[in-house]
Amino acid sequence: VEENNENVNGHVAGSVPRGKEPEWDDNIGYFIKKRLCVWCHLPNGQWGLGKIQETFGDEATISLLSGTVVKVSTAELLPANPDILEGVDDLIQLSYLNEPSVLHNIKHRYAQDLVYSKAGPVLIAVNPFKEIPIYGNEILTSYKQKAKDSPHVYAIADAAYNEMMRDEKNQSIIISGESGAGKTETAKHAMQYLAAFGCGNDGMEYRILQTNCILQAFGNAKTSRNNNSSRFGKLIEIHFTPSGKIRGAKIQTYRLNLRMASEYKYLNQSECLLVDGVDDGAEFHKLVDALDIVQICKDDQEQAFAMLAAVLWLGNISFQVIDNGNHVEVLANEAVENAARLINCSAQDLVLALSTHKIQAGEDFIAKKLTMQKAIDRRDALAKFIYARLFEWLVVQINKSVEVGELSTGRSISILDVYGFESFKNNSFEQFCINYANERLQQHFNRHLFKLEQEEYEEDGINWTKVDFEDNQECLNLFEKKPLGLLSLLDEESNIPNATDLTFANKLKQYFNDNPCFKGERGRAFGVCHYAGEVVYDTNGFLEKNRDPMHSDFIHLLSSSGCQLPKPASLSCKSGGLESSMQSVGTKFKVDESQLFKLMHQLEKTTPHFIRCIKPNAKQFPGQYEDDLVSQQLRCCGVLEVVRISRYGYPTRMTHQEFAGRYGFLLLETNVSWDPLSMSVAILKKFNFLPEMYEVGYTKVYLRMGQEPEHISLMLLLG
Ligand code: ADP
Ligand code: MG
Repeated sequence: VEENNENVNGHVAGSVPRGKEPEWDDNIGYFIKKRLCVWCHLPNGQWGLGKIQETFGDEATISLLSGTVVKVSTAELLPANPDILEGVDDLIQLSYLNEPSVLHNIKHRYAQDLVYSKAGPVLIAVNPFKEIPIYGNEILTSYKQKAKDSPHVYAIADAAYNEMMRDEKNQSIIISGESGAGKTETAKHAMQYLAAFGCGNDGMEYRILQTNCILQAFGNAKTSRNNNSSRFGKLIEIHFTPSGKIRGAKIQTYRLNLRMASEYKYLNQSECLLVDGVDDGAEFHKLVDALDIVQICKDDQEQAFAMLAAVLWLGNISFQVIDNGNHVEVLANEAVENAARLINCSAQDLVLALSTHKIQAGEDFIAKKLTMQKAIDRRDALAKFIYARLFEWLVVQINKSVEVGELSTGRSISILDVYGFESFKNNSFEQFCINYANERLQQHFNRHLFKLEQEEYEEDGINWTKVDFEDNQECLNLFEKKPLGLLSLLDEESNIPNATDLTFANKLKQYFNDNPCFKGERGRAFGVCHYAGEVVYDTNGFLEKNRDPMHSDFIHLLSSSGCQLPKPASLSCKSGGLESSMQSVGTKFKVDESQLFKLMHQLEKTTPHFIRCIKPNAKQFPGQYEDDLVSQQLRCCGVLEVVRISRYGYPTRMTHQEFAGRYGFLLLETNVSWDPLSMSVAILKKFNFLPEMYEVGYTKVYLRMGQEPEHISLMLLLG
């Protein structure tokens, strides 16, 4: 397509005329006149690439590259990029930043196994679902030595490491994406990179890498979205010495979704005991090796496996009805015996804990028999409780093994891997919590890339045209407002004795009828318009799950048992007493007091590096790229807006003091009376910085993409 090779705008791709809003959508007239390649929105919702043959009024005849000829309204046309820009590394290099162009670029790269692309400062990682030879020591080294600079998770890890060393400021790598998009794998690659270059001589980095294997073995499950889905969120903080060697690490997990019973209700109901390509035996050996490396002793390992077995046996305990069907008692069989033996309590105590409920009558407690459903719930709750304690215990042991001692300031890199946004056919309390957490993370992303950025430009008085972005504050308000927010109302309803999931749903519909982020649905359901799309939640089980039935009876049962590992006593000391461990699940997430709040607070103090993982198809197949699925993910994480901001924004900035301090010596004739601002201006002028590549604000110098300090030093020295 010859004409298409000419640079239609008359400007070099990537550079932009100063102070001028880019022209991407509105110059279609030029394309029509010149008969250039365009994207046309086809009736089936897809985008097709084609050439304009003729136009008649508002109608254009397009001959698509696929050979067909279609007639569409000119309003359905968008400019396509010249061929020369096909498959660029960074989307900001595209002359036209419309959705089909971005999609096409990523798809084109994916077809060549180029799974990483940049969207300005954000790394986009499309899951290849197959091994590609872009990892390992050799490649790692070429990124370190800057022999390679194509987009890669290694490049992000390298940037984080270098910025930490240069600025002595803590960094974070925030990895997000849907379930199965590749977050955990990406986090592992980032860790590998840091381990390789921060390795000292105490083997600490090796120990840190092994923690992945252990946490995965206990914290992952097969779901419909991902064969190896992390059922916990993880923040690993890696600390470095002043010379850049790894000192140790700290791992925090966000357990909010450790309720796997619904996913593999005691394994055998799942009908998926085998996963293609996974050798359970070999994985188990890897696990044991990893446990050895992080120095969990054999006795403790055995205890941990005993607890797992106890959980499985608990699942096999069944009940029979008595009292004309009103109540149940535990069927005495090997399941009870085995579970009790493994927990190290008497079978009788276990039976009591499972089939009765202690209620206070005056000074005394009386044991009340449970109904079938209540007893089943209680059995499952005990199993989850034990599993959760086991997982917590593991994290504590792992942290002991990689402990840093005194925390360094300004020399850490935190890698955050949390479950992404989830939207299934049936969405329950778990999705409700996960999606709320993601809504918060999205705000962090927005704040950093859009809000703070633009506010700073405005405050510092530089020439700037505002770029709009999807603000999700309204949706967060729907969750967080007190007393009328989803979380507050859920807590309130959980404390009303006769309340049911239905009364809860009805209350929501009554209060949020007019809220644009809320949709009333039939019966117990309601919908929320999240940044990533609308999700309908079924409130079935919300109240019970929010109450999180970790009955004091369980705590009592386990603390009086001889069971070594998941000692509830230590748990309750740590989290501040029984009450707090029995605190409702919803409350733990609530902004001020919550884990989530602490996490966000911790992240706020770091320089963030963002990686957005994309799942190219729902089947977890290699080589398949579903346009709709990808565009939906790109749209909901705001990639287009990020690209626009970064193309017209100024990613590098220094105060005049810093800038003058760093480069002032290059000025031959300096005037002592000059203030830092005048110095900055003099430096920029003297070394012929192109006027469109910088802005001078009241307090800072702002430099465009590609004008990082290393480049400047070089430019100035050569220049
Ligand atoms: P998430 O944590 O986002 O749910 P995972 O990181 O567990 O997703 O990735 C899901 C699966 O996708 C992995 O088990 C692996 O098979 C595949 N995968 C992810 N990233 C890569 C990669 N970079 N190279 C090859 N396969 C990958
Ligand atoms: Mg994961």
